[in-house]
Amino acid sequence: MSELTSEENSKRNWLKEHKPRVYEKVTRFQEKAARGESIAIVQFQYDYRCNFRCEHCSVKRFQGPKSGRFFTLEDVRELSRQADEMGLANFVITGGEPLVFPDLEQLIEAIDPEKFYLVTDTNGWLLDDAKAKRLKSLGLDKVQLSLDSLSAAEHDSFRHAPGSHARALRAIDASLNAGLNIILSTVVTHQRIRSQEFLEYLEFARSKGVGTFVTYAKPVGSWEGNFEVLVTQEDMAYMRELEKRFQVFTHLTPSYGMDLGCIAVKRMISITKYGDVMPCPYIHVSLGNFFQEPLQDIVERGMNIKHFGRRVPTCLIAESLPFIKKYIVPTYDKPLPVPYKEIFGPEDMISAKSSAAQH
Ligand code: SF4
Repeated sequence: MSELTSEENSKRNWLKEHKPRVYEKVTRFQEKAARGESIAIVQFQYDYRCNFRCEHCSVKRFQGPKSGRFFTLEDVRELSRQADEMGLANFVITGGEPLVFPDLEQLIEAIDPEKFYLVTDTNGWLLDDAKAKRLKSLGLDKVQLSLDSLSAAEHDSFRHAPGSHARALRAIDASLNAGLNIILSTVVTHQRIRSQEFLEYLEFARSKGVGTFVTYAKPVGSWEGNFEVLVTQEDMAYMRELEKRFQVFTHLTPSYGMDLGCIAVKRMISITKYGDVMPCPYIHVSLGNFFQEPLQDIVERGMNIKHFGRRVPTCLIAESLPFIKKYIVPTYDKPLPVPYKEIFGPEDMISAKSSAAQH
């Protein structure tokens, strides 16, 4: 464990004053993690509707009509209750594009901003001043805004949405004016990471006083089978150097004084519209279904899979070809998410006893 950074300290002080229940849970994170318990951010794919058709969309195969039960607001209230009881403190609303959800306001209310630090992903198209103020007033804390490039032409063609770059820039100012925290989110490939364009992007974020969250390119969604875009160990080492110069973060960046490595299950779970709980937004394997068993049991099962329960010092799905070939490629020709038993065997479990007890 290490000290909190000055930004983390000021965020904690803010929580203490404005969201005391969240603050109280966050102060217990280090001891929970030391006990081997998850402190997951709940990345909640409440709905897949979207106003864009982005090239690198990672949920393409989740979109479209599908039968079966999906989340109602009542289910969301139950999810919130269980997550709170587990001591979890963060929700990220995602999709799809949350700002096109017709019931986004009720969704925020059902999650309950008093219990969680609440973030939404957005492409920014609908985030003008009035919308940003409204979301802030409902208890939303932060916006994670997708901005693919500083070049309007590149961003717009990537997103197949002319004008989307200008709208994303407007969304930055609208969020800042409304007092929402904001972080830019951008996908980085092996080809992009050392480019002048990426450095300029980070300079731009700094000029706006906002941080940048980097998602390494993954061979899923629209990039299934595309291994050319994957980063290398050296690329990731370079990113750690950039972290010293810029406010730039990846899933591997230490936070809350902890260096957890890959955060799958330990610090992140992804829940689909249909109740499946996945280890991370890009590993499309179901650890269990929220509509069939308690969240706590599903998360414990995930922590019992060695790739998630043990410390892994890399992003397996962005960098490790052996992991990708063994565990991700087999998901390509199956309906998603694939049940964990079809992907992970007894050799992947930390404790054979507990995995046998679960089924
Ligand atoms: S596998 Fe990669 S994307 Fe998934 S949680 Fe781990 S670091 Fe993040």
